[in-house]
Amino acid sequence: MIAATGFAQKTVAVMGLGRTGQSAAKALVAGGAQVLAWDDNADNRAAAEAAGIACQDIAKRDWSDIAALVLSPGIAHTHPKPHHVVELARAVGVPIIGDTELFALAINALAEKDRPMVFGITGTNGKSTTTALLSHVLRECGHDAHAGGNIGTACLDLPAPHPGSVYVLELSSYQLELTSSLRCDGAILLNVSPDHLDRHGGMDGYKAAKRRIFDNQRKDDVAIVSMDDTHAQNICMSLMAQNVVKLVPISAQGMLSTGISFAAGKIYESNAHETKMRVDLDAAPALIGRHNGQNAAAVFAAARHAGLAADAIAAAMYSFSGLEHRMEYIGTVGGVRFINDSKATNADAVHQALATFENVFWIAGGQAKSGGLDGLEADLDHVRAAYLIGQAQNNFAKQLKGKVEVHRSGTLDAAVAAAFLAAQQSGLHDPVVLLSPACASFDQFADFKARGEAFRNCVAALEAPKEHKRPA
Ligand code: ADP
Repeated sequence: MIAATGFAQKTVAVMGLGRTGQSAAKALVAGGAQVLAWDDNADNRAAAEAAGIACQDIAKRDWSDIAALVLSPGIAHTHPKPHHVVELARAVGVPIIGDTELFALAINALAEKDRPMVFGITGTNGKSTTTALLSHVLRECGHDAHAGGNIGTACLDLPAPHPGSVYVLELSSYQLELTSSLRCDGAILLNVSPDHLDRHGGMDGYKAAKRRIFDNQRKDDVAIVSMDDTHAQNICMSLMAQNVVKLVPISAQGMLSTGISFAAGKIYESNAHETKMRVDLDAAPALIGRHNGQNAAAVFAAARHAGLAADAIAAAMYSFSGLEHRMEYIGTVGGVRFINDSKATNADAVHQALATFENVFWIAGGQAKSGGLDGLEADLDHVRAAYLIGQAQNNFAKQLKGKVEVHRSGTLDAAVAAAFLAAQQSGLHDPVVLLSPACASFDQFADFKARGEAFRNCVAALEAPKEHKRPA
């Protein structure tokens, strides 16, 4: 654990006692603070009490001695409407921060010679994959790297820093909004497309939150920014104009004269003098698709900043095993490939999946997000039939009508059965049943993981000879 030393001898309110809230409460106590903890949900309070965190309703208490409010990233602090505790904190002028800010304050308090390296990763899609891939590459190359933040372990639950250790933090837009002191030695912005707009009051707010990852960077730090969408490009240009940090542009859509590019399955490194092929991603089975080219390009740039040799980075990428629920190969049943992309909750993530396969029997739907299926029209060429589930099925059916064969399946198991039958009978080459929902899961499942597990179980229950080898 990393002790949150920024509030020793002070009283701090912690609101929201999920994974990060509990971790923040414990780290604050370890750093010498007095903690007042609360969660509106009784189950979360019970879990926190069981973990030794005493709860009291902070809204019902005098706030004159409270030095800060640590807010869980899941709680709205601006849009669509601030939580009442947020309004209370604002009314009495108490700063509102997140667990990442506690992490940043603890790291900033170290002497320069003791400071670990910190990489931050944000973007609409690909954060978890890129975080996992970068920490894998660093570890394979002998660094003591630890991944956490929005993925897996809360940042304050990571092992305490020592000179030479490296933190690789996945940072959501919610977390970045609650952080002002974080300095990333390397900061990655993968892409920006519409998502979570209700929480940020629109695209400008969402972009501004993402841009915060570059705040506090210095001239020897590196900003790794995609050139593949206009929002990220604008941020790249504004960083270039500011000229306070080393900038490495990345692209998975074309060759850059300077920076890291992904083209025709390979990663290229270019500078003013030369372009060199560095990684052949065809040899990295867990990194299929152009989107993973973008992730790998970002990781390559970050790993170079950590001082690694190109060959060592490439070798480490080849042994990456990938993450579950992100274009995860589940198995082949009766000649039909099954791909679990349950984490694809927005249109851009789905676009990457649909573009990767040729004959897709597509399962989509759930709890719709704003934007729905917008922008996927060109990918429908790859879809042989769509099987729709959950709350979004009627709207999605309307959107897809006349463009592709549509079935309202209602539930995931009905969709898998129907898609499997159709794929098997299609006679097409390499048919793929793809769960890539373009929706949140909460109408039918606890979360995207439960949805992906349910998909896996449906596939396991299908009756046909199975081969469990990952295709070449
Ligand atoms: P995040 O943590 O940002 O949600 P993940 O790595 O968990 O990202 O991937 C979420 C979804 O986005 C998956 O469907 C995955 O296939 C897709 N994806 C991964 N990387 C990218 C990328 N660079 N661009 C677009 N989609 C991506």
